[in-house]
Amino acid sequence: MSMTRRDMLKFTGVSAAAAAMTGCGAAASGAAPHHDVSKAPKHQVVIIGGGFGGLTVAKQLKKIDANFDVVVLEKNDRFMSCPFSNAYLGKLNGLNLGTFVHDYAQPQEANGYKIVQCEVNGIDRGAKVIHTTKGPVKYEILVMAPGIGYNYAKQFPSWSTEKIDHIQRTAPAAMIPGGEHVVLERLLRNMEDGNVIITVPAGKYRCPPAPFERASMIAAFMKKEELDGKVIILNEGEAIAKGAAFKESWKELYGDMVEHRTNCKILDIDPATKEVHYEQTVFKNKEDLEGVKTKHVEKYQVFNFIPHNKAGDVVAMSGVEVTADGFGKVLMNGCSFQTKTDKDIYAVGDVVGHAIPPSGQTAVWTGKECAKEIAHRLHGKSYSVESVLPFKTGNVCYSMVGDKPEEAIMVTHDFSWTGQVIKGAGNVPKDEKTGKFRSKGIAKATHDWYQGIMRDLFS
Ligand SMILES: Cc1cc2nc3c(=O)[nH]c(=O)nc-3n(C[C@H](O)[C@H](O)[C@H](O)COP(=O)(O)OP(=O)(O)OC[C@H]3O[C@@H](n4cnc5c(N)ncnc54)[C@H](O)[C@@H]3O)c2cc1C
Repeated sequence: MSMTRRDMLKFTGVSAAAAAMTGCGAAASGAAPHHDVSKAPKHQVVIIGGGFGGLTVAKQLKKIDANFDVVVLEKNDRFMSCPFSNAYLGKLNGLNLGTFVHDYAQPQEANGYKIVQCEVNGIDRGAKVIHTTKGPVKYEILVMAPGIGYNYAKQFPSWSTEKIDHIQRTAPAAMIPGGEHVVLERLLRNMEDGNVIITVPAGKYRCPPAPFERASMIAAFMKKEELDGKVIILNEGEAIAKGAAFKESWKELYGDMVEHRTNCKILDIDPATKEVHYEQTVFKNKEDLEGVKTKHVEKYQVFNFIPHNKAGDVVAMSGVEVTADGFGKVLMNGCSFQTKTDKDIYAVGDVVGHAIPPSGQTAVWTGKECAKEIAHRLHGKSYSVESVLPFKTGNVCYSMVGDKPEEAIMVTHDFSWTGQVIKGAGNVPKDEKTGKFRSKGIAKATHDWYQGIMRDLFS
């Protein structure tokens, strides 16, 4: 017999009270569950998120033991890659949308796990139930791999939901898999002479080199199209990931076409007049903590507004302990991908609370290690991530900087265990022959890396 709405409200009330008593996170957002939880299917391992981290955990688990019962819950009906998507905006030779979009049928057939297309809107850790738009799902072990979310609401408390939606449509961030990349490409393709503005948010955000790679690729596109204008980067802070390498490339390939402005706080955006209002703080030196603030208005042809990032909402739904900053990464249980709060919940990818870079490559590494931890546990054995550390080039992140000829720069990170967190130490190499950071060889390696990681995820 299915539950009535009245029963449902009673159930929700009881769950909430129980959650409050036990400290467990109940369905924290979205609609109340509408299905009979007692009839919900139960799976050994349920993974939320079919991105770089989630698909890796699923594949590795099935590789280790084909009998594991593994289900991925993913809200999108197809996969869209953020890595390499800037090269698409730069219109590098031979790239099209098909390079970045993959169907979810292939990895299921190839690897034997199941993907259910649905959106997760609540997690009841007490009952070990995930609430989704297709009804509840029970889990023995849950892996959270939801990637990031945007935090427009916290950054601009006075903006209405309508305004946020409008900004997302007209000045897309394109930092999350989905249609925003397509919107940004259309805006660029249709632009007239004028400036493209890209923002770099304060705090932790996905793939720190991404906005700067995007600036390079948009400059390449504008140069090719003979568009008169600049790419202006409004950075809320000062840092540029792979800074020396990007600056060298911008100067030598684009002259003064790429302009990086530091300490710029976005105040407002007006899509009607195509204007961004911001306040820039100029500091005299390191001791000057106040600085001098000036307000500016800049006109744009295309605006790639990247707001503050946060961990995907799924993390808050679970109620596990997170870092105190605005991003809210999951606190981990020592040198592990098990959460500190709940031994039955693991996390991989950008939401992991270790000091390693938030990248696709890192998400794959965390996914593989997490799968080993879970597989050993299900086989009644123990596994220590510490046993594979230090790990050389746990992360390799390429950034395309030039077209005709294609040239790229790279950063590698070695991973080690500090006793508190897994830490990544970065290195941006120079080409030994030319003495430059960028090279054609790294551009070729970028193509090869991308094809390899897609093969890894989808076949
Ligand atoms: C422009 C750009 C360029 C980049 N370039 C590189 C690069 O060159 N190299 C590199 O290594 N990394 C790069 N990255 C970073 C990389 O994309 C991310 O670090 C990586 O995707 C993180 O993997 P993830 O599994 O944590 O998240 P994702 O890959 O984003 O996967 C999360 C999945 O969870 C799903 N999801 C979220 N919430 C829910 C919900 N409530 N219900 C159901 N499903 C949900 C999402 O739809 C998504 O499919 C780049 C990023 C950007 C934006």
